[in-house]
Amino acid sequence: MNILAVGCHPDDLEIGCGGTLAKYSKLGHKVVMCHVANGNLGHVIIGKEELREIRAREAKESAAIIGAESVTLDVGDLHVESSNKELVKKMIEVIRFYKPDLIITHNPDDYMRDHVETSKLVFDASFGSSIPHMETKSEAYGNIVPIFYMDTLAGVGFLPTEYVDISDTIETKLKALSQHRSQIDWMLEHDKIDFLDFVRTCSKFRGLQCGAAYAEGFRQCMAWPRLRTERLLP
Ligand SMILES: [Zn+2]
Repeated sequence: MNILAVGCHPDDLEIGCGGTLAKYSKLGHKVVMCHVANGNLGHVIIGKEELREIRAREAKESAAIIGAESVTLDVGDLHVESSNKELVKKMIEVIRFYKPDLIITHNPDDYMRDHVETSKLVFDASFGSSIPHMETKSEAYGNIVPIFYMDTLAGVGFLPTEYVDISDTIETKLKALSQHRSQIDWMLEHDKIDFLDFVRTCSKFRGLQCGAAYAEGFRQCMAWPRLRTERLLP
């Protein structure tokens, strides 16, 4: 299968579904990690342009560990608008180009606006990608695919309906996440927040709910014609 995961910032996918993506990759599926925003406002000392470049590099290093390809829509932080027609077209082109069998993205209800807008953008673009008169470089993709929503940050307000056992990929998930040094190291040194421990704890908690050492939780987007008879999560 082709798996397309769309997160808002570089590092969001590692946090929400990095173990699942690594598992897909291990099973031989093609995994693409796309982030919509470039993360250029995610630091208080490093300047915007330098940070944009650093974060794109970190995302590529992380994706390589997961066994995925990394692409970006390169939108400035706090500027993700699902109503932006040009951005919708860019997202449609990514979907048409990679022809996913399923898409993973943010829950429609998450802790900050750019995440919420990303979720909406994916939902709209995945439908739009099937419309031939909506012209982009690639041909229309006639498959309106299932969408799975990944966990919210710290799992707040999110009750999974499906779980993926990531006991065998938790270390890959954390190693991938640790490539985002401009975030992880910064938070540890300056805010005393051990984000790797934070994410490990969340995975352990989801594991506790489903009888696994570590797990990630998901909810499926229940909209026609995106439902299938077979289980698609690994
Ligand atoms: Zn984010």
